[in-house]
Amino acid sequence: MTVSLRQKIAVGTYVVRQRLAGRKRYPLVLMLEPLFRCNLACFGCGKIDYPDAILNKRLSVQECLDAVDECGAPMVAIPGGEPLIHKEIGEIVKGIVARKKFVSLCTNALLLEKKLHLFEPSPYLFFSVHLDGLKDHHDKSVCMEGGFEKAVSAIKAAKAKGFAVNVNCTIYDGHPPEDIAKFLDLTEELGVGVSISPGYAYERAPDQEHFLNRRKTKELFRQVFALGKGKTWNITHSTMFLDFLAGNQDFHCTPWGMPTRNIFGWQKPCYLLGEGYAKTFKELMDTTDWDAYGTGRYEKCANCMAHCGYEATATEAIFQHPVAALAVAWRGVKTDGPMAPEIPLENQRPAQYVFDNNVQLTLSQMRANEAREKAAKAAQTSATAA
Ligand code: SF4
Ligand code: SF4
Repeated sequence: MTVSLRQKIAVGTYVVRQRLAGRKRYPLVLMLEPLFRCNLACFGCGKIDYPDAILNKRLSVQECLDAVDECGAPMVAIPGGEPLIHKEIGEIVKGIVARKKFVSLCTNALLLEKKLHLFEPSPYLFFSVHLDGLKDHHDKSVCMEGGFEKAVSAIKAAKAKGFAVNVNCTIYDGHPPEDIAKFLDLTEELGVGVSISPGYAYERAPDQEHFLNRRKTKELFRQVFALGKGKTWNITHSTMFLDFLAGNQDFHCTPWGMPTRNIFGWQKPCYLLGEGYAKTFKELMDTTDWDAYGTGRYEKCANCMAHCGYEATATEAIFQHPVAALAVAWRGVKTDGPMAPEIPLENQRPAQYVFDNNVQLTLSQMRANEAREKAAKAAQTSATAA
């Protein structure tokens, strides 16, 4: 998200309130996935490998707004799938903006120019356009020739209409630091902020070979940040998160910082892992065994350094150690010297593979609901006829 002063103040006030209230766990950003259907099939995507019955399912406007109210986070990110495919996306965004929540609508931008009329510019609304690098790299990443030009054209069109726009970039193994630096130069030329994060190794992603491990991630980001010294890239993460990416912080993740609501329910434990689902946000917070997840605890978490797991940790670190955080902000991210110790992995529990069960359970529930609705309709028709 592009971070305006208004947003910084709103989020800072929210965090102070949570801390004064003594809340140990609270959400910062609601990840709202109103659908999984997408008009692309990127090689690193772990979100779209579902049967059609699930890809065709949508969260309703009311379900989306209820999730926003239930969760209470000051920011809402709307990823997917491709949210612009949702027929009521305009209404969903309008309802969230009316609640004075900061909305980041994540899109691959293929439909953005066509659908801009559904939205109104607002200090509470940002488009976050998926752009994984310069042309060659982005087109390869989204498996579509011309994807880069489409995205850049949509960014310009949205900006021309007065919308705030940033880009979200996922980094995979094999992306040379020099190319990433050139890409960040381009975002500066385009006048957009950048959210940048290493790709999480989704078990359902078609290409499993290009995900970075933690050591490689840290080395790569050190090289990128070294190339960025003296530049004014608008990277929209906290300096503490960037310092973590460069291997200078030994953070553990904060999975409840960005809770996820999608068509399955409230996802346990985080945006990246779907190990189970709760019916309500409260149930998610109360019943998830948070200590069972994170690097060093669970095999699927071994290489995770994604911003959705660690930005909330970085925010907490700023409040807990303001002097250290100020020092990092003052001197910039360290790009050489020893790294913070890595979390040992010897005692992590092995991965559990629950995807198929979750999908089957949801499909059975959908079929049962459909059968109930059909029976109710038939009963109503025969009552009317009688
Ligand atoms: S645009 Fe996003 S949701 Fe669609 S396939 Fe690519 S990564 Fe997945
Ligand atoms: S490390 Fe944390 S944020 Fe990353 S996948 Fe595991 S639980 Fe989720």
